[in-house]
Amino acid sequence: MNTQKYIEDLLKSHSLKKTSARIEMLKIFLNYDYALSAKEIISHMKVSHDRVTIYRTLGSFEEHGILHKASEDSHGIRYAMCSHECPEKVHSDEHVHLICENCSQTYCLEDIKIPKIKVLEKFLAQKINYTINGVCNACLSSLKTTNG
Ligand SMILES: [Zn+2]
Ligand SMILES: [Zn+2]
Ligand SMILES: [Zn+2]
Repeated sequence: MNTQKYIEDLLKSHSLKKTSARIEMLKIFLNYDYALSAKEIISHMKVSHDRVTIYRTLGSFEEHGILHKASEDSHGIRYAMCSHECPEKVHSDEHVHLICENCSQTYCLEDIKIPKIKVLEKFLAQKINYTINGVCNACLSSLKTTNG
């Protein structure tokens, strides 16, 4: 698959202009199989853009259904690419997120769809988050080496 073309089509389908920052950021997201924080994206970018541009772009990608918040902690928000079914504004990423307790690495488990949950009549659900906390493979192997 031609990444450049895929990204340009993606931006076009969301009526977003093809800016170098947007294209480079999406390339980074496609390169990693885990969610990325703004800090990580900045460190992976070859051309430096100011932080405001990065944060603003992440916000607009989220608004347009290109990225979703995968996890949020003291290290910041980690974003991941949305599946194609994601409509604008309303995210349909109802899948489980795996979060490493040790390094905060976050993975999307897209294959496991959450069954529709009937929310109580007296309650308006605004944010639904399904997470499994644990230890990622990288941390697991480093723990093994330090322990013996
Ligand atoms: Zn989404
Ligand atoms: Zn880890
Ligand atoms: Zn996800």
